[in-house]
Parts: sequence; structure tokens; C-alpha cells
Amino acid sequence: MMQDSGATHTLSFGVTPHEGRSENLHEGCLEARRVRNEVNRLDKEGWDWDDIHDTVVDNANLVKNTTQLLVQKALKELETYHDHKDEDWGRPFPYIDETYPMRMNHNEGYALTIDESGDVRFRVSYKPYNYVKGVLRGSPDHLERVKNALNSDSWRVGVAELVHKHNEWRLHVSVTHKTRTVASPDDAETVIGVDINENCVALAAMTRNGDVLDSVVIEYPDIKRVRHEFFIKRKRMQNVGQTAFETVVRTEERDFVHDQLHKVSRDVTRWVSQFTDPVIVFEDLKDMRDSIDYGTRMNRRLHSLPFAALREMVTYKAAWGGIPTDNVDPKYTSQRCPRTECLHIERGNRRRKRFKCKSCGFQDHADRKAAVCVVQEWFSEQYGNVPSLETLPSVRKVRRTASGLCEEADSHGAIFASGVHRHGTSAQDSQSQAREELKTVAPVEG
Ligand SMILES: [Zn+2]
Repeated sequence: MMQDSGATHTLSFGVTPHEGRSENLHEGCLEARRVRNEVNRLDKEGWDWDDIHDTVVDNANLVKNTTQLLVQKALKELETYHDHKDEDWGRPFPYIDETYPMRMNHNEGYALTIDESGDVRFRVSYKPYNYVKGVLRGSPDHLERVKNALNSDSWRVGVAELVHKHNEWRLHVSVTHKTRTVASPDDAETVIGVDINENCVALAAMTRNGDVLDSVVIEYPDIKRVRHEFFIKRKRMQNVGQTAFETVVRTEERDFVHDQLHKVSRDVTRWVSQFTDPVIVFEDLKDMRDSIDYGTRMNRRLHSLPFAALREMVTYKAAWGGIPTDNVDPKYTSQRCPRTECLHIERGNRRRKRFKCKSCGFQDHADRKAAVCVVQEWFSEQYGNVPSLETLPSVRKVRRTASGLCEEADSHGAIFASGVHRHGTSAQDSQSQAREELKTVAPVEG
């Protein structure tokens, strides 16, 4: 597994050999496994690591550079184990019997080029004078990013791993921005909370003083609709036994969804970049997975495709612009009242897209409110306290459809505005009124 850090990103592609024997890919990964196991065997026998390195590299039947990368990786695993032995870390399995990813340097073990028609061609050689060639398959987003990296002087195409997974060969390519430095979240002036849902993403920008400068809900109803249409289409095909077309339909669906999310992620980063020194804060995916009782809303969000994909796209585009991202525990973001005076937590506070606090009566668009709570959670985790929530602008909604981005007609209307009906027409009026509401909402009890 390759880890993304800072300005390095991992892109994933399918590889289908057009030239050369696909068995070569298999043979390469078997030799990679032998190298990996050999390093572990010699370490267990007490060999000096420099000797392990030289001996294994000399004896391997791989491109020399590829063996070096594999030995380094195996030794690093061992190093981690030796460093953490006291904490009961187990030794890596001395012998693994499935194939092992081949790890290769660009222009040595593997190479990527763009051809006249704009396709990205690959060459994988596990040993000298031996190659497999073909065209990379992948999401429009990852293909665009690898092309960008191949074309640009400021990006470097780095190490790739060839993996056999789910009966398919995949190439995980790392690309690194050479000069880009991503700012530290600690230096952020504006904290942007993100709440990703099946059909929309809500954003809220808050200063360190607790002022919500602006918020927006970007809806993408077409994704859910089109996915449903594709689902029906596939079911129908299965019923009449046309399974051969299923893969085609699946690819069509994936491309559509990725294209839409790609555009939404651009809308998000564009909106974020208007603020001074922003940090983008997401709910932590890992925490969401570990928890079992967040209820159906969390489960639905977790299993709906947009969550992880949109988050990844926003993260990469933000890093590209030097904007850092961070995570918070998502435990209460959807159920908690954002009023600093209240902070009441109850599942019943939320009903679909409507949040109404059972304790103080505060009302808001549920997803926008969740985005505000993400920011509050970030302050709480960073500094142990949350700035008092002073203002809350009216909710602005925009809609990203297959045909473009449009402002919602009712975006300044009363229905989704925070609190009660609003009569002011200018943003200024709405803001002062919202501020007033926050101060005067009377608790129902206590
Ligand atoms: Zn409340």
C-alpha cells in the first residue's frame, strides 16, 4: 500500500496487455514475492542488512532498480517491526505465498507515455529485454492527473506498484509535485467544514472568532438519479441474460459519476480559495468505519460512492493550490445543536434535510449545520474549546447538473434559511437577522 503524503498522490489504473505476454506480469510478481521472502528469511537468520541488500539484488531475476525498491520495502517493514517490538508488534509473515506487488521506478521498471490520440501507454518490464505494453484504463480524473504530471515540469512521475487484484492487473502510480508546499493547518485563518452526502456537499467557512463568513450547499441530484437509472438498466440486462454488456454499462456509469464529481470538486475548491489561508476539514473516514452505532445515515453515506471519491478529489485539488486538509471525528456532527449556548445532542434533532434542536428550537438546513459542526469539532480537537457561534448567513444553494452549474431560485428564500422566515432581501439584512436569532432563540426547557 502506498501512502499519500503532502504533495504526493497515488493514481490507480487498470492495465490490459496489448503487446507482450501477460504471463510476464505474473512472473514478475512471483519473482517480487521471492525477493521479499528472501529478505525476511535472511533477516531471521541474523544476516547484516547491507549484506542482505547486496546478495538479494545480485541474485534476483528482475530489473536491478526494481529489486532495490523491493528490498528497501521489505527492510522497511522489518525496521518498523524492530522499532515496535516492545509494543507487541508481530514480525512480518516470513513467507507469503500469494503474488507480491512489483515496485518499479519510472523509465526503468515501467514507463508511461502519451500517444497522438491522447491515450496513456504503459510499458512494464520485469527483466531486461522483456516487456508488456498497452493502454492505461482509469477514471477521467486519474487519467487527467497522470497526463498533467507527464506533461508538466513541476510534477514528477515516481514509483509505481503493479498489483493483481480481483482478477485484474492494476498499476498504482505515484505523482509528486516538486515545489508545491502545502500550508500547515495550524496557520489557517479560515476553517472550512465539509459535509458530504449522497446528493449534496455542504460547506461552511468560519473564522477563528466564530463568524461564519459564508456557506453553500452544492447539490448534485444527477449522480443519484443516473446511478439509479444504470442500476435498473443492469437489472434488466441480468434478467434477460445479457451479462456481456454489464461491464460496458458499469464503465459508462463510473465515468459519468467521476466526471460529475470531478466538476463538483472543482466547484468546491473554487469556493474555498476565496477565503484567507483556509484549511478544509472533512469527517474522518476511518472513524466512520470503526463506529457501529452512527445509525443508518452514516452507513448510507459511507456506502454511497461520492463520499470517498469526492473527498479525494477535493484533497488533491486543494493540495495543488497549497491548501491543507484535515479530519475530525464525525461522531456528533449531524446530531448536535451548533449554538454554543446549547450544544444539545439528540438523533431526533435531525429530520432529513431539516435540523431542529429539541432543546432550544434552533432550526437550520441539516447539512449546512453539519458543516458548521465539523468546524466546531476541529476547533475543539485542536484547542479544546470552540469560539462562540456569532453569525450564521442564510443558506445559499447551487445545483451542479450534467449541463452545468446554476444558482437555485430559492437560494435566498425562507424555506432553507436558518431559523424563522426572513424578510430582508440583502445579504446584510439576512446576516444581522440570523445573528439576532442565534442570540434570542429561547430554550424549550431548562
Ligand atoms: Zn439547541
